[in-house]
Amino acid sequence: MITYSVIIPVYNEEAVLRETYRRLKQVMSHTNESYELLFVNDGSRDRSGAIIKEVSAWDETVKLINFSRNFGHQIAITAGMDYASGEAVIVIDADLQDPPELILEMIAKWQEGYDVVYAKRLERKGETFFKKQTARLFYRVLRAATDISIPLDTGDFRLIDRKVCDEMKRLPEKSRFVRGLVSWVGFRQTAVEYVRDERLAGETKYSLKKMIKLSMDGLTSFSFKPLKLAGYAGGLLSLSGLLYLAVVLYFKLFDGKAIAGWHVLAILQLFLTGFMLIMFGMLGEYIGRIYDEARDRPLYIVRECYGLEKKAKKLKG
Ligand code: UDP
Ligand code: MG
Repeated sequence: MITYSVIIPVYNEEAVLRETYRRLKQVMSHTNESYELLFVNDGSRDRSGAIIKEVSAWDETVKLINFSRNFGHQIAITAGMDYASGEAVIVIDADLQDPPELILEMIAKWQEGYDVVYAKRLERKGETFFKKQTARLFYRVLRAATDISIPLDTGDFRLIDRKVCDEMKRLPEKSRFVRGLVSWVGFRQTAVEYVRDERLAGETKYSLKKMIKLSMDGLTSFSFKPLKLAGYAGGLLSLSGLLYLAVVLYFKLFDGKAIAGWHVLAILQLFLTGFMLIMFGMLGEYIGRIYDEARDRPLYIVRECYGLEKKAKKLKG
């Protein structure tokens, strides 16, 4: 029986991996319990996979899952949860932006009896103004739009108990917003706070495209409000149309002058078609995801594993 599983999603992180391994080893040896370091190599094109494989040859706590291609951060975490066997499961980024030392604080909370301990960022260092602001905005929009409470400014750096992990494995959806799913699952949750460091080396692996995908996954997985928006806006627009008509009629009947209206028309035209296209786009976001679920393809494909016995039981992947 293993006590702690540490899941580390890896995508082109050759510059930091050795240091990440060293720091994690240091921290985990302090726990005096058994543990595994479960690296999920999300289709890296650099030497990341080779480096972990090398280490796993002489350190049996190191395990490696190689994906057949890049499936994305959230899927990599999901695969880690499928393969983890620890009593507590910890998810941490490979780039040391999440300080491994905080794991000890999380473990202390877990031992107090909490089932989910998430790490809340008080501050983010070394990230662009754009990233900080969009992230800030995203967490707040998400909070306003969803009915479950997803903690603000919290990434995937967290500890979850075995029973939470098992519940997570029962959730079948394909567009995975892991931090939202953990909130949805419930149980006793608490936070530890930290200041997020700069990345040790390398560059962010979250392109703008990936960030948009993540935020759309979060929003659509946990809220129908964007869809309802069309209804509200339609109502509001009809109402203003009526009001507008009343004003025009008033001037026509009592003042005898007509409003020169072509530019009003042009503005309305732009505004209305713009709005309708946005709503079509929003519909597309949902329909695309429904299609994804309907096709029911596996979430990920594992090319090979090191240090793990092949799992006989059927995994989602
Ligand atoms: N990552 C991944 N697959 C991806 C993108 C990122 O496994 O497609 C990993 C990456 O190696 C890192 C973590 O997810 O361990 C967070 O990514 P990153 O640090 O680039 O994101 P940021 O901290 O800039 O938001
Ligand atoms: Mg990072």
